[in-house]
Amino acid sequence: MRKLAFGYSNRCNIRCEHCVATEETPDNKKMDLEKALEIIVELAKSGVSGISFSAGEPFIYFNDTLKLVKLCSQKNIYTRIVTNSFWAKSKESADEHIVQLKKSGLCQLRLSYSRWHQKNVNKLNVLNAARSCEENGLEYYISFISDFSKEDDQHEQFLRTNKLKFFPEPIIYSGRADSLERRNIQTDYQVNCCNMNPYLAPNLDMYACCDAGTHFPDTNFFYLGNLSKNSSEHLFNKSETDPLYKLIRSMGITNIASYAGMKSREIITYSKCELCKILFNNPEMVARLRAELPRLAGWNR
Ligand code: SF4
Ligand code: SF4
Repeated sequence: MRKLAFGYSNRCNIRCEHCVATEETPDNKKMDLEKALEIIVELAKSGVSGISFSAGEPFIYFNDTLKLVKLCSQKNIYTRIVTNSFWAKSKESADEHIVQLKKSGLCQLRLSYSRWHQKNVNKLNVLNAARSCEENGLEYYISFISDFSKEDDQHEQFLRTNKLKFFPEPIIYSGRADSLERRNIQTDYQVNCCNMNPYLAPNLDMYACCDAGTHFPDTNFFYLGNLSKNSSEHLFNKSETDPLYKLIRSMGITNIASYAGMKSREIITYSKCELCKILFNNPEMVARLRAELPRLAGWNR
């Protein structure tokens, strides 16, 4: 199943310290609406069955987003919007937006929530948005981004007290979050496989990974190409057939790091995307792994 994170614009109305979507200085680009609609038609033809409208903040361009979602719905593409809920200041405002989204055919809303988001957006907005989804029959969940420190307990408790559907997600130390203090990780030796859904940026650059994958400046390892010069079919094919990407999906970052020579006790001190960056933002390492592909691919139990 082909899925895509669609970055219609990287403009946001707030500035979270932990934002992975942007570097220190946001560049506030936006796609042309007609072009975005054309791209969705092309994506449908190349078999894309799920689109997530993600960061920046899609509700800044609410009417455009409605049009994009509506077209996806007509093309049988599952849609999700990721939002910080700034627009849900009251029950009325939340309902007004949710009803329109529901009418346009939106499948799911993902509400971002964290101690960083909530410095800028009242947590009651997230509650209003979630309640409105429940009342109007729109599927939602809350993405609770955390560094798993004690400071986050009160935020988690708020979600529990209000019986909201939420899933904790580790902060990704990339983009603006790169400057944040790292947590002391205590975890098992995780495999760290990734689905790697591609990300389409507002300037039509496409990347094989929608999380930290745009922030590997020394190798541009996940860069697939620009949609103005390549078809989406070609770029999806590239993403699906690159042997190293395939190994990230099947073998996992941890086993690749171990193969590459990192000590296991060193590996467990990094989060997944940090480990990925150590390996794949290093030109010599990428060249070595590509040269040793047959041996690397055989590095399995
Ligand atoms: S994390 Fe989300 S809400 Fe916060 S600045 Fe980034 S895009 Fe905006
Ligand atoms: S570990 Fe690598 S492939 Fe996986 S989400 Fe992070 S940057 Fe993307």
